Amino acid sequence: MIAVSACLVGVRCRYDGKAVSYPAIMKLYEQGKLIPLCPEVLGGLSIPRTSCELVQTSEGPKVMTQNGEDKTDAFIKGAEMTLTVCKSLGIKKAILKSKSPSCGCGQIYDGTFTRTLIEGNGLTADLLLEAGIQVLGENDI
Ligand code: SF4
Repeated sequence: MIAVSACLVGVRCRYDGKAVSYPAIMKLYEQGKLIPLCPEVLGGLSIPRTSCELVQTSEGPKVMTQNGEDKTDAFIKGAEMTLTVCKSLGIKKAILKSKSPSCGCGQIYDGTFTRTLIEGNGLTADLLLEAGIQVLGENDI
């Protein structure tokens, strides 16, 4: 089985209450090959919710809303829960939504809320990679 960001297979769990759809990924889902997971919901955040970005602060990286609310704990909890589910199901590969502060792998927004991309990973993608799980983006499928 392969984990997938739930918003990539039609679950309306994004911060704005929407989903995105990729035909190739939906096909795998319909074949029963994907386990949908949303780290931010697993971390206890609501739908909809204020969008967040990873911000570099004097105390290190934090996940913040644009108005300065610190959501780091929920993002860490969601990443840990996602890893727990992956481990319990023996999942070795994940298809995660690019650019997200949770799921993004390779590129994320830079914390200025100007849609500027920098190299980096979201917290969940980072944790899965550290655990040896292969992480792909939706455009790799
Ligand atoms: Fe999609 Fe991941 Fe964001 Fe959930 S946390 S909405 S799965 S990108």
